Amino acid sequence: MPSKVFFGSAHQARLDAKETLPAKLDLILDQLHIRDRVNKETVVIKMHTGNNMSYSTIHPVFVRRVVQAVKDGGGKPFVVDVNWDVAGAETRGYASEAIGCPVYPAAGPDEKYFYEHERPYKNIKSWNVSGLIQDSTFMINFAHVKGHPSCGFGAAFKNIALGCLAGKSRSAMHDAMHYDQYWFPEKCPDKSILKKITDACPFEAIVEDKEKPGELHLHMEQCNQCGRCLRVAPEGSLLISPVNFHTFQEACAISTSITLSTFAPEKVTHLNLATHMTPVCDCFGFTSMQILPDAGIFGSDDIVALDQATLDAIAQTKLIEENIPTSMEVHTREGHPFRWLHGPHKDPYKVVEYGEKLGLGSREYELIDVLPVEKLERSSMPYIAAH
Ligand code: SF4
Repeated sequence: MPSKVFFGSAHQARLDAKETLPAKLDLILDQLHIRDRVNKETVVIKMHTGNNMSYSTIHPVFVRRVVQAVKDGGGKPFVVDVNWDVAGAETRGYASEAIGCPVYPAAGPDEKYFYEHERPYKNIKSWNVSGLIQDSTFMINFAHVKGHPSCGFGAAFKNIALGCLAGKSRSAMHDAMHYDQYWFPEKCPDKSILKKITDACPFEAIVEDKEKPGELHLHMEQCNQCGRCLRVAPEGSLLISPVNFHTFQEACAISTSITLSTFAPEKVTHLNLATHMTPVCDCFGFTSMQILPDAGIFGSDDIVALDQATLDAIAQTKLIEENIPTSMEVHTREGHPFRWLHGPHKDPYKVVEYGEKLGLGSREYELIDVLPVEKLERSSMPYIAAH
């Protein structure tokens, strides 16, 4: 049976508060029965509070409504994020006076409070779930949707996968992209070619390895798989392979499954706010222009269905190419718009594919619009200039 995904469009018919996103969030919270589910629960609201001077993360007006719903239902809410984003969160509006509850670092101020979960995957032996996450009895996963340099996009999965783990595990997940060999030095005995390879990349994505001089290191985040470097690299010496990029997405799905396993299934719900979607993650410390039209707000108990529905809605729109920073480029216009920007191997759908395989939910969903935008009929009227 398809999972239910509740949706509130960013569009509106009338200039009326009832038709705007905070009001639609209220309708989604009602549909998810939040108030009935949180009585006496310790409710962790996981969100990204941004960094430095970013302003495109979830506006406190939305957070306050979620917090109020939890309080109305008799729950004890608090917001968490990783320590370096919580430091200074109040300067971006996430103060208890504004949002109605405190904001804590999920793994403590030094990221030393976590629970270790053994599950070998490539370079990763164990995964450290942040203490305040695992200690909670109910989680609201409230994600801002945006692009992401490692995997194309970030939403509900990424908010848990990276945001609910302590620092060492987050680093290990990024390192996993280097687990499968992509540089074969024996196929490039002429070391003078290394410079030609690194010079071929306009994004400084491929560089000489600082720890292993004479070898190459690929910064996966900066690589959009354009293939310029492959034109000068001796055959077989360098691979720009999907496996390295997909590893991050698979790690995100595994990480999410571990965190979710610490909650009873009915004790977690997920929200995606798809507004002011920027090219890269909210942790960059600034906000750039939006690269996609606002889609709206989505809510579901099924994280797979939620990210799938969000991606599908965005796929019906087009990248706003004039808003892309000039340091980036669009070299493919196939598939999802996030893939246009971050390259074909950073297919944003991979994370939901892996998530479904792990049994975290279904990619089949029923989209329920909580307040469909009314089409207002009016008779056609020739323009008459007023005098
Ligand atoms: S594929 Fe393109 S972006 Fe990636 S390292 Fe090679 S030249 Fe740079």
